[in-house]
Amino acid sequence: MTKISKYHNKPTLSRRSRNNGYIIDVHGYVSVRKPHHPYQTNGYVKEHRLVMEMHLNRYLLPDEHIHHKNYIKTDNRIENLELTNMSKHRTLHNELDKKGIKKYDINLVKTMYLQGFSCRKIGEKLNIGKTTVASYIKELGISRPNVSERNELGEFIGRKVG
Ligand SMILES: [Zn+2]
Repeated sequence: MTKISKYHNKPTLSRRSRNNGYIIDVHGYVSVRKPHHPYQTNGYVKEHRLVMEMHLNRYLLPDEHIHHKNYIKTDNRIENLELTNMSKHRTLHNELDKKGIKKYDINLVKTMYLQGFSCRKIGEKLNIGKTTVASYIKELGISRPNVSERNELGEFIGRKVG
């Protein structure tokens, strides 16, 4: 029995819905207006969970977590998502930390990269070489997703409706 519809990751809009039913929550995740979802919070569900639920054709359990392979929390393409659980997810991030990948740098690298800055420009900003920047991008598998709409500051403003 199929529980998950092909519109599962699409917002349920009401007349007064803002931003086409999408918001960015305080942790930087895209949330979708889904007031009837069993695990909704204030009427919203994280988009990456909806995408994985469609892929698995079932609801995710609360302990099941999703890792964003390229570290970009708004890149919710299924190929960027990895199903894990809370403890495995923590272990994975500890391993990455051991490799010396600094969260602060990485966040800036990925933000600037998504804004269209070159490796050289990013390196200048962070006071590191452009080769180091390029290796970060390669190691993290960061790709520039074209699924989010951004303003001229590179800020997320919504989703392109496909
Ligand atoms: Zn993760």
